[in-house]
Amino acid sequence: MKIAFIGLGIMGKPMALNLVKAGHKLNVFDFNKAAVAELEAAGAKACASAAETVEGVELVITMLPNSPHVKSVMIENDKLAEIMPKTATFIDCSSINPVASREIAAELAKHGIEMLDAPVSGGQPKAVDGTLAFMVGGKQEVFDKYKSVLEAMGSSVVLCGNVGAGNVTKLCNQTIVAVNIAALAEAMQMGQMCGVEPEKIFEAIKGGLAGSTVMNAKAPMMMDQNFVPGFRIDLHIKDLNNVVDAAKAVDAPIPLTQQVLEMMKILHHDGDGSCDHSALLKYYQKLTGEVLHH
Ligand code: NAD
Repeated sequence: MKIAFIGLGIMGKPMALNLVKAGHKLNVFDFNKAAVAELEAAGAKACASAAETVEGVELVITMLPNSPHVKSVMIENDKLAEIMPKTATFIDCSSINPVASREIAAELAKHGIEMLDAPVSGGQPKAVDGTLAFMVGGKQEVFDKYKSVLEAMGSSVVLCGNVGAGNVTKLCNQTIVAVNIAALAEAMQMGQMCGVEPEKIFEAIKGGLAGSTVMNAKAPMMMDQNFVPGFRIDLHIKDLNNVVDAAKAVDAPIPLTQQVLEMMKILHHDGDGSCDHSALLKYYQKLTGEVLHH
């Protein structure tokens, strides 16, 4: 299939490479020329603008940082909604505000173009392996038509509802992960201050109800004081701000999300925005002066 792919960052570059490996013909664009050159070396066509990528394609895929970037490319600056082929479909894999997804879909609908919002979870290693989990919003028939394209980049592809449902599900994911990490940091810190070794706390409870994928991934990082990302605090702030906006639109109460967002903002202002989100532990360490150890 001939595909336009825009946004070759940490996630987009390996995803685009997997599409090339699966035999698709890609037109690619990013401001980052080195990333474009890497895709060109793998067999994709390097384009000088977003507009150039859409010529003659059946599918347009974006993997951009946030709502303003996707709106800029699709409707405000590059205006791909107006110039992409009317027979093509748009799939946005970025994690953005679901309200923005629906706005972009409405704009595309004016031109008779279908859209799926298909954010992912899994991070860079799974983007490289082609084992991402896709949470998709859109019409069943559009999903059925393009599911195999997403399967070239992921091992789980689930239709969650109409357009926007993919990003709503992603926001649920981001809230659960953030609150989980904060609870883990708070408990480990409190346990050590009460005189129990963190390693023993982890070993004793990881197989029970409190155990989780978050605990298995993040407790060792916390005990090692290893905050190399992973997933950066600043990106998680972006997602939790989108949770706040989405919740506000429907008057949903989100006290836990708000609390963890404030903790992350404090860490950002203290210079920790580029740390892995497991650095929520630093919030407690800075308050108490007690550093978690093995
Ligand atoms: P990134 O910042 O590494 O990549 C974004 C890319 O978009 C950059 O290369 C940038 O140059 C490009 N870009 C920005 N505006 C552009 C424009 N107008 N035209 C062309 N290119 C443009 O970000 P990432 O880590 O790849 O994340 C992409 C999305 O995936 C985000 O929404 C993020 O929240 C989500 N996500 C990231 C991870 C992760 O672990 N990094 C995991 C899951 C989901």
